[in-house]
Amino acid sequence: MIRLNDNFQSLPKNYLFSEVTKKVQNFKQQNPDKELIRMDIGDVTLPLFPCVVEEINRAVEDLAFKATFKGYGPEQGYLFLRDSIAEYEYARHAIDISSDEIFISDGAKSDLGNLGNLFSVDCKVAVMNPSYPAYIDDNVMDGRAGSLKNGVYSNIIYIDCDPENNFMPNLPETVPDIIYLCFPNNPTGEGITKSELEKWVGYCLKNNSLIIYDAAYADYVRERHIVKSVYEIRDADKVAIEIRSFSKNAGFTGLRCGYTVVPKRLLGTYSNGVKESVHDLWNRRQTTKFNGASYISQKGATAIYTDDGRKAVRSATDYYLKNAGMLKEKLKDLGFECYGAINSPYVWVKSKVGKDSWEFFSLLLENCGITSTPGIGFGSKGSGYIRLTGFNSNENTLRAIEKLDLLNK
Ligand SMILES: *Cc1c(COP(=O)(O)O)cnc(C)c1O
Repeated sequence: MIRLNDNFQSLPKNYLFSEVTKKVQNFKQQNPDKELIRMDIGDVTLPLFPCVVEEINRAVEDLAFKATFKGYGPEQGYLFLRDSIAEYEYARHAIDISSDEIFISDGAKSDLGNLGNLFSVDCKVAVMNPSYPAYIDDNVMDGRAGSLKNGVYSNIIYIDCDPENNFMPNLPETVPDIIYLCFPNNPTGEGITKSELEKWVGYCLKNNSLIIYDAAYADYVRERHIVKSVYEIRDADKVAIEIRSFSKNAGFTGLRCGYTVVPKRLLGTYSNGVKESVHDLWNRRQTTKFNGASYISQKGATAIYTDDGRKAVRSATDYYLKNAGMLKEKLKDLGFECYGAINSPYVWVKSKVGKDSWEFFSLLLENCGITSTPGIGFGSKGSGYIRLTGFNSNENTLRAIEKLDLLNK
């Protein structure tokens, strides 16, 4: 018998994106002459940087000739890239992370899913509400989420983030074993301060819990008091794994490359009480189930760690931040409560028409021809919000801003 993993039956029925597509198609059919501006895009729109393309071309040439050809690379990633990351992302910020604590992958989403391999199905998991949906779905597939009732999993601790706590999660009363934190946050766009994150690291040190820290938007941080890396906090390398990606800062969403830091000081405990290095476990997992990210994408990523590459990351993230900032200012002028857009490309906008994010979504679509993502797709605390993004052209963003005037008509 082809017996299936029953956990898949417990996955949430996610109609969000198909529902968005359906409503947009309907709108197009009924308004064939009206312009539609996509402000729901969760993908970058600028092309790869010239310095990255040059390096990729050189890498292709390497593979084309016998003398420079490369076959399997190290499962952990090439040292040229791991050394660059250790230097530019950590050493230059006075953070002590060594190259062999950095594991290169084909992106953050894979690592987020694969990390579940290392931890007991009995671990209690905490997730911010709202949040990037993969954190919960990965744990459902692994069998860690429990049963689903009224949109809530029995074994997940939801940490509510709303204006009352400035979108900063409060420490939960029931102590979780694993806590997912994402800062700067998708979807709320808010960053975390050093003192807020210190609370979490302290809590985990005291309770023996793990933080899985998703820093996919680290390069969008502009304010000095906002944290880029969890390891800016003292002793965080005893309790935190950090996941980063070249997708949102350097346009690698199609090319694919990211990395995960698993510090050597991080220890876990088997059910028989034996302690083990999580770093060694992850290394064992990767060498068995992964043959490394492609040489071409790793070479491309290395170009990000040059003077030209640094400037290009800054200018691309500035571009998206500017778009998001303009959207936010306009919506504030129109009397909306909005969040984010200072240290992230996302604007989180509170509805004035009620608690349902779909009503707000429809109003924006029908009055202005603007698409958005209904907040409810990110969790129950997203209800009554929509997410807009800076991932469009400056020109389209300016046109969207003009059209927003039609909202109050
Ligand atoms: C986009 C995104 C990811 C996925 O990044 P990839 O490296 O492209 O897989 C992970 N986490 C968050 C919060 C994201 O927004």
